[in-house]
Amino acid sequence: MPSDTNPRSVILTGDRTTGPLHLGHYVGSLRNRVALQHEHEQYLLLADTQALTDNAHDPEKVQRNVVEVTLDYLAVGIDPTISTICVQSALPALAELTLLYLNFVTVARLERNPTIKDEIQARGFGRDIPAGFLCYPVAQAADITGFKATLVPVGEDQMPLIEQTNQIVRRLNRQTGRLVLPEARALIPDIGRLPGVDGKAKMSKSQGNAIPLSATDNEIEDAVHRMYTDPDHLRVSDPGQVEGNIIFVYLDAFDEDREAVADLKSHYRRGGLGDMVLKRRLTSILQALVAPIRESRLSLAKDRDFIMDILQAGAARGRKITEATKLKLMEALGTFRFDGES
Ligand code: ATP
Ligand code: MG
Repeated sequence: MPSDTNPRSVILTGDRTTGPLHLGHYVGSLRNRVALQHEHEQYLLLADTQALTDNAHDPEKVQRNVVEVTLDYLAVGIDPTISTICVQSALPALAELTLLYLNFVTVARLERNPTIKDEIQARGFGRDIPAGFLCYPVAQAADITGFKATLVPVGEDQMPLIEQTNQIVRRLNRQTGRLVLPEARALIPDIGRLPGVDGKAKMSKSQGNAIPLSATDNEIEDAVHRMYTDPDHLRVSDPGQVEGNIIFVYLDAFDEDREAVADLKSHYRRGGLGDMVLKRRLTSILQALVAPIRESRLSLAKDRDFIMDILQAGAARGRKITEATKLKLMEALGTFRFDGES
């Protein structure tokens, strides 16, 4: 349980509805959310509007994954009676806040955001970049501030986005002369970013290098089997490299027996420890972690009405909160509002 948190904070996190969640989400964010929900007021946003910014060609996928991600939340232990799950597109105040905030950020600042730079490169965008994609950090600022969140448990890739949010908050507070919005703090786990099974810097739904939380035992075994380790560790007797070795990155993230991992590392460095021993260990740890999540997901998926009820209730609650924030901000800014009445 993360300890450096205020007695009761408002938490907002979310996930793009681009595919079922994976082990990167689990260590990067879900594990913290499950622990934090008991102490704090927690909102989880299914970011379907944000997902469209680079998936406008496939809205059906974005729509379908709203339910998939909800199943993942419930299966890992998010309790819908204490956490609120909202679909982004069901909260129009967030879109209105986004439009407003776009006036408080420059294109140059958006283009400098390191996370966006990485994502643009990964997607091969040039001048053809959808404007919505370049601006999604502004929408994310609307999401966080719309709920007046002060704590955001996210993976390390999200740091620049929280910083961007806080810059917008400071500009708005300066403009209104009041502390109308709070700044937010990221809560980053020790393992800030889980690499993909292909060794790339980040496991990601869009990169095809993920182990989903719905993976079968065989899929997990295959994925671990295909992982590259130290290319110079050719014979079991050769000394091996631990740093940057993806199997050890995963053991650090998922193996709770820290002492055993430390022993394995020194044995590997000395030589005499084969990759297959490590892979078998990692496979069984991941299978034991994922099996109950997968089973729970399968049984939850049978009751679609239950899922829809959760999303309806979350949308009603989320609309109330975000609408109130929007009105308060517009009033503080003195923004012109024409409501047609004289
Ligand atoms: P996409 O490829 O569609 O962007 P994604 O896999 O990057 O999907 P997001 O929905 O963008 O997932 O991220 C949701 C949350 O999960 C964020 O807080 C992010 O930091 C965290 N997260 C995603 N991937 C990882 C990872 N590999 N390691 C740690 N945290 C991660
Ligand atoms: Mg992402």
